[in-house]
Amino acid sequence: MAQASESTASAEAAAPADSKASRWADKRFLLHALRTTVRAIVLLLFTVDCVRLALLYLWVQGSVDVNFGRPQLSAGLSPLSGLFDLWTWVKTGQVDPALPASMVIVVIGLLMSIFAKRSFCSWMCPVGTLFDAMGVVGRRIFPGVHVSPKVQRVIHAPKFVLGLFVIGFVLFLVPTSTILMAWNAPYWRVSDMAVLKLFIQPGVPIAVVGLVVLGLSLLLGRNYWCHGLCPLGGIYGIASKASPLVVARDPKACINCKACSKACGAHIAVAESTRPIRTGDCTGCMECVAACPAEGALQLHFFKKPVPLWTVPCAVLVIWIAVWVAAVLLGVWYGTVTPEQIIMGMRTLG
Ligand code: SF4
Ligand code: SF4
Repeated sequence: MAQASESTASAEAAAPADSKASRWADKRFLLHALRTTVRAIVLLLFTVDCVRLALLYLWVQGSVDVNFGRPQLSAGLSPLSGLFDLWTWVKTGQVDPALPASMVIVVIGLLMSIFAKRSFCSWMCPVGTLFDAMGVVGRRIFPGVHVSPKVQRVIHAPKFVLGLFVIGFVLFLVPTSTILMAWNAPYWRVSDMAVLKLFIQPGVPIAVVGLVVLGLSLLLGRNYWCHGLCPLGGIYGIASKASPLVVARDPKACINCKACSKACGAHIAVAESTRPIRTGDCTGCMECVAACPAEGALQLHFFKKPVPLWTVPCAVLVIWIAVWVAAVLLGVWYGTVTPEQIIMGMRTLG
């Protein structure tokens, strides 16, 4: 009797452990945990660097006594200068002395897009992480409006138009000689701080645009900034068309449960796809593949050969670490301008 109750107790004690273990065996749970961890780490590092940058600014203004030096990750705040720097480097071989990290971050995003869809957007971008979190809150308040695939294509198109405009602006409208001159301008040296200041003290036009984007995200029940408006997302989407990694559905193995379409944060009708998903809307999050319950119905393909969905996170981490290490070794991660030049630049911001 005592033995029976002991075994019942041990079975009860083992039950939660078993369910915990089976949770970790669930690829959807694992993928979500991994993606959330990577995004949280990047968001944390980025936030720390933005706080360091704000402290440096306040120190220059004489409002605080401590500063922790010039951070580099906050360079991600000024992707436009990163695009200009990249084009100038391609044309002249010269590197921006002030904030070369912004070019390195753009290169990381482009390489990820070319090799693994817009994975920068769904695995790394801190802005994407924040807007996705807002989308979750939005869906709790509003159920979200159902949007037909045709309307969806229209409302997601502005990011490509804006992306093409930015590419044209960088490649054709601003002469390289102007950028080389701008590198010596005090304002250019602190372009990350100029953008951070816009977030902290937005003027009326920027506040209005921000509220409209936020309102649209809540009403449509989706992260509308990343999927509909971000010009950088549009550029990465165009680059991702070349990606050899694509999600493809096998209609013969598909049981038509639509779990993939429900899991897709980009609202792509995965369950109806008859060809590999090459749209620049796909962010390579892999949620659809992880959600599919039918063996072989939805797979990631590399040059038409099925590969595990873990190929995307591996590519993300390898590209991120390899490019960053190469940039540090080649001396193009840290700027070479003096602290006095940075202080002068910060003073020009007022
Ligand atoms: S869920 Fe699938 S189709 Fe949708 S964005 Fe993620 S990888 Fe692309
Ligand atoms: S989740 Fe898999 S089985 Fe279900 S509709 Fe999508 S591809 Fe078909």
